[in-house]
Amino acid sequence: MTVNLLDLDAASLSAFFAGHGEKPFRARQVLRWVHRFGQGDFDAMTDLARSLREKLKDMAVVLPPAIVADSLAGDGTRKFLFDVGAGNAVESVFIPEDDRGTLCISTQAGCALDCSFCSTGKQGFNRNLTVAEIIGQLWQARRALGAYRHGETQGERVISNVVLMGMGEPLANLDHTVLALRLMLDDNAYGLSRRRVTVSTSGLVPAMDRLRDECPVALAVSLHAPNDRLRDELVPINRKYPLPLLLAACRRYLEKAPRDFVTFEYVMLDGVNDSDGQAEELLALTRDVPCKFNLIPFNPFPGSSYRRSPAPRIRRFAEILMAAGVVTTTRKTRGDDIDAACGQLAGQILDRTKRSTGRTFALQMARHEVAR
Ligand code: SAH
Ligand code: SF4
Repeated sequence: MTVNLLDLDAASLSAFFAGHGEKPFRARQVLRWVHRFGQGDFDAMTDLARSLREKLKDMAVVLPPAIVADSLAGDGTRKFLFDVGAGNAVESVFIPEDDRGTLCISTQAGCALDCSFCSTGKQGFNRNLTVAEIIGQLWQARRALGAYRHGETQGERVISNVVLMGMGEPLANLDHTVLALRLMLDDNAYGLSRRRVTVSTSGLVPAMDRLRDECPVALAVSLHAPNDRLRDELVPINRKYPLPLLLAACRRYLEKAPRDFVTFEYVMLDGVNDSDGQAEELLALTRDVPCKFNLIPFNPFPGSSYRRSPAPRIRRFAEILMAAGVVTTTRKTRGDDIDAACGQLAGQILDRTKRSTGRTFALQMARHEVAR
């Protein structure tokens, strides 16, 4: 059976090599070739014995998802659309900034959690991405951005940060997500620091505990409401894991987290969750959790019933939080001219190819700016 090496983290690659009578250092060499140098051609792995190269050609491949569209916005934001088979596509977005480059990647095709303001949720769940499809977005983006040519030091990194804030709920695909995270952190692979890799979750409490134990990285939690009544409506998973449980899970997470705060994401919905009173309620709710807030102006999509809060309202809301001493950022929308801000590209392509089912996987991508 042919193995896709992009599906294996360091431990599983060692086991795979051991199973074929190869020494662990060979596994490390291959890991470096594949991930650190972005090499998918075994013949180019010049420090491997020819016999091993031939063996690898027989039993393994390096197979990332194919890039089917690649668009560059005026502000440098670049969006990649990946084919993941059966008419499904997922997106990654690269956001260059002065001091870092962030890649936002997807973990599922669709999402089952059905948040009322999210276009991915509205389109239903298709399937979990494999490890190769998750890490393959980073592998492909690095190649497309020329990052593999740029040396290895942190300062020179083209992609210095990764956020799991694209399509899907990472913690609903925890096994694959954890293996992909381990590759991102591995010094022989991408060597990113835990603080520069962020998982965003809508609040799957047991999986938050598992992430904390298995691979703690920076955590962002999609709060979006200051009380259970409203959050039940906006983020339906709240009915299963209501706010007291979620906030307790945040505190437990912080015991092992690489950063000493959780980032609370809060989508700004006009007249729904954006009043002064709700800002005060939010402060009271989160009093016992070291946190920062990231306000996300709602990103409308066809068929959505919400409106984005007006800019002065968002400013006022942020001021109330900041006056209480809580660091608060407001996300910029980026890449508007290529729909990276509203991720309609996946939807457009699928509209054409899957018109019969009406299934679209447009992705809300106004999620980019992540807590520093
Ligand atoms: N499923 C995870 C991660 C992907 S969503 C989660 O929900 O956290 C990343 C962020 O984008 C979340 O905070 C999500 O609530 C937010 N988001 C979803 N749809 C949005 C929209 N239409 N406008 C603005 N933000 C949105
Ligand atoms: Fe899924 Fe996140 Fe969208 Fe909710 S906001 S439906 S959890 S992708």
